[in-house]
Parts: sequence; structure tokens; C-alpha cells
Amino acid sequence: MYKAKKAGKNNYKFYFSNEHELNPLQMEVDLYKALERDELLLHYQPKLSLKTGNIVGVEALIRWNHPERGMISPAAFIPIAEETGLIIPIGEWALYTACKQNKAWQEKGFSSVIAVNLSATQFTQANFVHTIASILNETGLDPQYLELEITESMTLDIERTISTLQQLKNLGVHISIDDFGTGFSSLNYLKQFPVDTLKIDQSFVRELYNNPNDETIVKTIISMAHNLNLNVVAEGIETKEQLVFLQEHLCNEGQGYFFSKPLPANELENIFQEVQQMVKKHGISQDMNE
Ligand code: C2E
Ligand code: MG
Ligand code: MG
Ligand code: MG
Repeated sequence: MYKAKKAGKNNYKFYFSNEHELNPLQMEVDLYKALERDELLLHYQPKLSLKTGNIVGVEALIRWNHPERGMISPAAFIPIAEETGLIIPIGEWALYTACKQNKAWQEKGFSSVIAVNLSATQFTQANFVHTIASILNETGLDPQYLELEITESMTLDIERTISTLQQLKNLGVHISIDDFGTGFSSLNYLKQFPVDTLKIDQSFVRELYNNPNDETIVKTIISMAHNLNLNVVAEGIETKEQLVFLQEHLCNEGQGYFFSKPLPANELENIFQEVQQMVKKHGISQDMNE
């Protein structure tokens, strides 16, 4: 299952290769210790307004710094965390750490919304809303600076989803639907979900300028989001051409390697600082078309 080929172009190939291959069972055993050994960390990827170039948000993305295997991507260990139930403590750790980091950034004058990815197991826990409320309370983060990313696959129990989302909205947090377009959520339900944002899956963004079908899908998601009064974000922007297409079709926000990879907190802070200095100097942060 966990073969080099599957790891694709990313940096985690070595983890899966031949003699050093770690089987899923060993990974499970190690994952139990990862939290207490402090091996988990968050990287942060900025999200920009495609109109002004301002950093409007930051997405927290988990990594596992394995003592022997090095950095492991969430695609490799989140499924195991889900199967074992470890996703509950790991997910809480990620939420707490991200909220605490964002509070610290705000105190330094960098104001943006922190987005945290959720798993179905977390989202459907009976006390999930309470967990979020406690974390906000403990970290002192204003709820409007937290965004929770859910996926279409978590919303299968419609009544329950609407109820949980409504309670979260009442707390004041933002909700986005991640990887939008890859699931099977009915548009009829979508309009009933109290969500704020759709994030267009990167598989559609990747082929902009090459595949007319993906261009149509992206245009359709953008206009549908706007008609439903939702904010729309494109993930996985890697090229200027993709950016221009998205700007022309009035996509609100974007994320991707074209702007920045996910970075350790201190490196992202340098970017915040540069943008802030530009704002001071020029009145605007950056002109996206220069
Ligand atoms: P996602 O939430 O859809 O995150 C986007 C993924 O695309 C991230 O991969 C990010 O590093 C990558 N990415 C960003 N820009 C680009 C780009 O321009 N090109 C390409 N090719 N990739 C780009 P990452 O960090 O490996 O995370 C993978 C997935 O793992 C995430 O997908 C999310 O579903 C899950 N995940 C990450 N952190 C957490 C977490 O704390 N909890 C849970 N439950 N899931 C998480
Ligand atoms: Mg996400
Ligand atoms: Mg995504
Ligand atoms: Mg995803």
C-alpha cells in the first residue's frame, strides 16, 4: 500500500523505499508515541486575496518528524491515525497549537485567519463543538480568526451536519469545504449548510490552461459560490497562468506553491513582516500583476 510510487513527486519518497520500508503496523506503534515525544509539528501556508495580494489566512498542515524516518506527510499517517482513533488527540493537538500560534501572531500585529483541517471522526464526535469552544477559551483566540476545513465526505448525515455546523457558526468560527468538487455532495444540501467558503480542489486548478473541462468546472464552481454568497478559494496554484485565469474569473482567494509552500512558523513570520513593511512603504501590500 505505502509504496514509493504513491508518494509521487513529494519529498517523502525515502520513507517508503525498499529495505527501510516501515510497515503500517510499525507506523501505528510509532504514532502512539509521536505525541508524547513531541514529534508532530505544523507548517503554515499563506492564503492570499487574489484582488489585493494581502495575506488573508494561513492554513495549518501537520507533519510528523519521525526520529529515524524524517519528515512524514499527513497523507501517509492521517489514515492510520483515523483507523486507530489517534486522530482525536492528534487533531486536538493540531487545533490547540494552531490557535495558540495565531494568537501569538495577532499579538505581534499579524492578523489573519488560521485554518485547520478536520477528519470525519473528529467532526462527528458528540463533544466536538465543546472541544472547539474550550480550545478557543484556553488559547484566548477570537473565534472569528479560526476557520475549520471539512470535506464533502463528512457531511453524509445531513441533519447532524447542519446542526453541528450551526453550533460552530454560533460560536463565531468560519467553515470551509475543502477539496470541493471531488466529493459527491448534493447541491441541494450545499445551500442548506451554513458554510462560508468553498476551496476548489487542486486537481482542477492543475489543468487550467490545458484542459477545457477543468476550466469549465473551475468557472462553474466560482460562479456557483458567488451566487450562493460564498467565498471561493483556489488551492494548488503553481503558475502565473493559473493565477491569471483565476483572477479573470474573479476567484476571491488562492493558495499554492506559486506564492509559498507550507513553512515553519518562524519562516512564515518573516513573510508577514515583509508584507507589513511593504504596506507601510507603499500603502498596498503587493501588486499581483507586476
Ligand atoms: P489539504 O487540506 O487539501 O491541503 C493541501 C495540500 O496541498 C497540502 O499537502 C499542501 O502542502 C499541498 N499544496 C499546497 N499548495 C500546493 C501546490 O501549489 N501544489 C501542490 N502540488 N500541492 C500543494 P499536505 O500538507 O501534504 O497535506 C495533505 C492533506 O493532509 C491535506 O490536504 C489535509 O487533507 C490533510 N491534513 C493536513 N494537516 C491535517 C490535520 O492537521 N488534520 C487532518 N485531519 N488532516 C490534515
Ligand atoms: Mg485543507
Ligand atoms: Mg484541499
Ligand atoms: Mg485534502
